[in-house]
Amino acid sequence: MRKGSARNITKKFHPIHPFTHSPINSFTSQKVALATLGCKVNQYETEFIRERLEESGFTIVPSKEKADIYIINTCTVTQKAARKSRELINQARKRNKKAFLVITGCYAQAEGESLKEKFPWIDLVVRNEDKLNIDRLIKKREKTSASRSSFIHTFYDHNRAFVKIEDGCNQFCNYCIIPYVRGDKVKSRPLGEIITEIKELLKNGFKEIVLGGINLGLYGEDLKPRISLVNLLEMIDSLKEDNIRIRLSSLEPHLITEELIDFMANSSLVCPHLHLPLQSGDKDVLKRMGRRYTPDDYRNLVKEIRKKIPSIAITTDIIVGFPGEREEEFLNTYHFLEDIKFSRVHIFRFSPRKGTPAYSMDHQVNEKVKKERSEKLRELVKIHSLEFASHFLNHSLRVLLEERRDPVSGLLTGYTDNYIRVFMEGGDDLKNRLVMVKLTEKRYGVRSSNFT
Ligand code: SF4
Repeated sequence: MRKGSARNITKKFHPIHPFTHSPINSFTSQKVALATLGCKVNQYETEFIRERLEESGFTIVPSKEKADIYIINTCTVTQKAARKSRELINQARKRNKKAFLVITGCYAQAEGESLKEKFPWIDLVVRNEDKLNIDRLIKKREKTSASRSSFIHTFYDHNRAFVKIEDGCNQFCNYCIIPYVRGDKVKSRPLGEIITEIKELLKNGFKEIVLGGINLGLYGEDLKPRISLVNLLEMIDSLKEDNIRIRLSSLEPHLITEELIDFMANSSLVCPHLHLPLQSGDKDVLKRMGRRYTPDDYRNLVKEIRKKIPSIAITTDIIVGFPGEREEEFLNTYHFLEDIKFSRVHIFRFSPRKGTPAYSMDHQVNEKVKKERSEKLRELVKIHSLEFASHFLNHSLRVLLEERRDPVSGLLTGYTDNYIRVFMEGGDDLKNRLVMVKLTEKRYGVRSSNFT
């Protein structure tokens, strides 16, 4: 079965109406719209909820449609994410005043009670640990012993599937709310469970699996016996599936092992792409952030990775305007970027999150300065992105062509293994295929950050 296709609904339930709590004959008349903000883990969890609801007979509709039930998987990593979550709560209300509204995710976890006060039309706040049981909570009074899958089988509206392999983070960086809302205990999924899920996704036509976690590098440290991310990759490799690829989502630099670099250097399974959040190129700022490496550690790591995997894309996150960030500290970040030349950078303006140490630190940087600094970095990164793509001009690279064409040009589009966006002519038969493509022309800005 291909992704996004309707799944057969074979189970019959005798559910309870979510508004009146009286029995209704079938959920098939109930439309559910799901909306997600934030990280790949949230996206994975929404897919899980979506599939369980579909199995129960609910009809899933796009998030912008009128529905009987809205489920909003919120995020609070920045003030902007929290604001967007509130907007989604309002929009759901506008679409259908009578709808049953469920909120979950990190913003709901952190501020569920105050959100309920502010938006009294929220019917249910679900904590992160109960999130994967939302279908059961909605059908709470239903007496059914129907079995329920504990995997995802597809990934709605996505060309690649995210697989969550780990939850929780025990690192407590000073700006980050995540350990408070996701928990500070590392919870890794057992190897066998992940492999079963990946096999199912491959069977259903997915060619790229993105392994994700709240802190991916901690994968396996809580399992007995303790295992590592490399053990999992070896297991996936042993499936001997041709023409698929695995991409690793964000990895903390201090958790990258030599074993992992060597595995990536010798395997065609894992994409030559590492997203290593730097946050700042200044050693004092890194210290104040509570990060566990220095700029020199980071520089040496990148050198080592590039030596072993020359085609690798190294991408990163930067926070500008951390409390007390002086101009010269910002310039250290600027020069660090000039030195490393990342192929992509996500630039965030520091956003104080209540409950974290950085929230109450002295010398908060004003928004205008943060904006100027982020603009300066953005201009620099454009040059580096283009430079990186230029190295591969006239080379043939493997590209996963997406289902959706580029809306501006109508061209087929997709990413290379090393995360260069490619656009090309071609028929629909090429969609969702991994093909070798020769890069013939570089260009910045078909859409703001992509290349042809
Ligand atoms: S390692 Fe990542 S998730 Fe964990 S506290 Fe630091 S920034 Fe947050």
